[in-house]
Amino acid sequence: MSDKIKKAGVVGWPINHSKSPLIHGHWIDQFEINGSYEAIALSPEGFTSGIRTLIAQGYQGCNVTIPHKETALKMADTISNQAKAIGAANTLVFKDGKIHADNTDGIGFINNIKQGAPNWLASDGSALVIGAGGAARAIIHALLEDAVPKIIVANRTIEKAAHLAAFFGDKVSAVPMGQIGKMLNETQTLVNTTALGMTGQPELIIDLYNIPKTALVTDIVYNPLKTALLTQAEERGLQTVDGLGMLLHQAVPGFEAWFGARPIVDKALRQIVLAG
Ligand code: NAP
Repeated sequence: MSDKIKKAGVVGWPINHSKSPLIHGHWIDQFEINGSYEAIALSPEGFTSGIRTLIAQGYQGCNVTIPHKETALKMADTISNQAKAIGAANTLVFKDGKIHADNTDGIGFINNIKQGAPNWLASDGSALVIGAGGAARAIIHALLEDAVPKIIVANRTIEKAAHLAAFFGDKVSAVPMGQIGKMLNETQTLVNTTALGMTGQPELIIDLYNIPKTALVTDIVYNPLKTALLTQAEERGLQTVDGLGMLLHQAVPGFEAWFGARPIVDKALRQIVLAG
């Protein structure tokens, strides 16, 4: 085993709130890797030179978070199909002085559902995606890759939903938030990708009376873990998956690329992140 320390981190501005050091630190300990993963504050002005410094210092790569996700894509030498479609990167891998940019939010979303609801298939029926921001974009791309037959995007600002529908093509259409109730009877996968339901934000109010009993409801908000949407879905006997696992699963590909071991997302990791 090489005794050279493998280094990675998460770059953002601000960065103190990031849970990524807890996640990667847990896996580094678990695999007894001679490695480190730290939070690195880089301002927008200092981002490009900061990344070059990390490369010069022998870093394997890094996660990138707000506000650098688009800039990271611009400075990359190669870009994964996901990152290209999403228009933003959250994972950079450095090799031979070059930067490869990826976006793992979509795969994190899908793998979280597959772990929480093993019988779920995107291909089972239509998805209703609420929200049209960066996370929605990643999720729509991932659902389409997973053979969902149809997606309806509902958003407060309808123009943003229409823009996503036009970008992703025939299988995706846009409706205003007020139309959600009418769409529920044909929904097999319901996803909240808005900030609604998060601590300090208003709740997302939807009456799920009309949704099929076989539908799955998931929320990518994870603070609180059980949003009002998930509580109502559970009370109606629907399958639910909370949003914490998306955060954990999106970290897997980066860890594997930097440290050479594929970690698993388990209850112990959830507890560590919830307590942190
Ligand atoms: P974003 O690009 O800023 O998009 C925010 C979305 O929320 C937009 O669709 C926005 O609608 C909607 N929204 C915000 N406030 C609203 C309100 N009061 N009423 C109705 N709609 C509202 O953010 P994002 O990156 O997509 O993230 C969205 C949420 O997902 C955040 O809470 C974030 O923490 C969470 N997230 C979780 C994970 C995870 O791993 N679990 C990953 C990424 C993001 P408009 O277009 O009308 O403004």
